[in-house]
Amino acid sequence: MNNHLLFSIAAHDPDTAARGGLIELPRGVIETPCFMPIATHGAVKTLAPWEVRELGAQIILSNTYHLYLRPGMELINRYGGVHRFMGWEQPLLTDSGGYQVFSLASMRKVNDDGVTFQSHLDGTTHHFTPELVIDLQRQLGSDFVMALDECPPGDAPLRAIKEAVARTTSWARRCLDRFGTTESGGDHPQTLCLVVQGGTDPHLRRQSVEELLALGAPAYAIGGLAVGEPREALFATLELLNELLPVDKPRYLMGVGTPADLVRAAALGMDMFDCVLPTRNARNGQLFTPNGTLNIRNARYRSDLEPVQADCGCPLCANFGRAYLGHLFHTGEVLGLRLATIHNLRFYLRLMARMRQAIREGCFRSWSGEFLQQYEGEAE
Ligand SMILES: [Zn+2]
Repeated sequence: MNNHLLFSIAAHDPDTAARGGLIELPRGVIETPCFMPIATHGAVKTLAPWEVRELGAQIILSNTYHLYLRPGMELINRYGGVHRFMGWEQPLLTDSGGYQVFSLASMRKVNDDGVTFQSHLDGTTHHFTPELVIDLQRQLGSDFVMALDECPPGDAPLRAIKEAVARTTSWARRCLDRFGTTESGGDHPQTLCLVVQGGTDPHLRRQSVEELLALGAPAYAIGGLAVGEPREALFATLELLNELLPVDKPRYLMGVGTPADLVRAAALGMDMFDCVLPTRNARNGQLFTPNGTLNIRNARYRSDLEPVQADCGCPLCANFGRAYLGHLFHTGEVLGLRLATIHNLRFYLRLMARMRQAIREGCFRSWSGEFLQQYEGEAE
């Protein structure tokens, strides 16, 4: 049922666990490590899909929770799936909606059957089960479908994390069963990805991986990180997961992170990433550069005619200076949001391309050392 997903590793870095891979899907080939821009409501905020493609995105992510609430499945079904709805023809991953239920919904009750929640929009009550989130993603027709998992906060007590692991395994089994007996509502076959939980506890992580490997899936995601735990605990957990997860399956690290986080996580064998940082921070005026971040609203840029990043070449840096971008932000011009988003996404997507190149050339350790020194050494 999943043999349409081909994953091959083209290069292993000799000094780190970084790997350069190819994920072959009916809608396109994805080179890894890769970054997925987020299109929460079916749009990468401020950009048209062809702009996202032009910036170098190979795959994007959209949110089942949000699309289910607005516009609702009936309309998306009339389009024949989310790709045609939003005009994106390349690969697309949808999350299960679970994370939003746990982080956004105003009320939620979890039991073994599923999770009941109130919409953050209008307070209406809904019930997500493993079967329903598979059915919803079948209708969306996304290329990667995520199993429903329970994601406790970073400071949750061990007992809660333990319960979440057990529930996530039982839900993964039900997702696999449902996935095996249904078909995509879109034009192409889909791939189901299971989510590992266990917080930063090594025993629970090991248990979660073992239980999910016994179920078998073509791809594994790492959930329950980047939820407020200390940085060292995040990377220690990734080091362990790099040993536990099968080498020949794609690993998707959910919700991470800063450019420095991505470089460090790729060195620990992670393949796929998503994060709101480049797009959300762009709209707050924060720009990513090889020398760290700068906030364009800062008074020091008011008369700075230099581009945000001299060697960038994106439409912002090729045409405008920092003072002009700052002016757009101060006056609330929509163009400012668009240009900052374009620059930040270009920065992230080019960073991934540089990582892939360093892996191919077998020099990831020295390249990443230089990158991190420049990025973290001079951060604002
Ligand atoms: Zn730029």
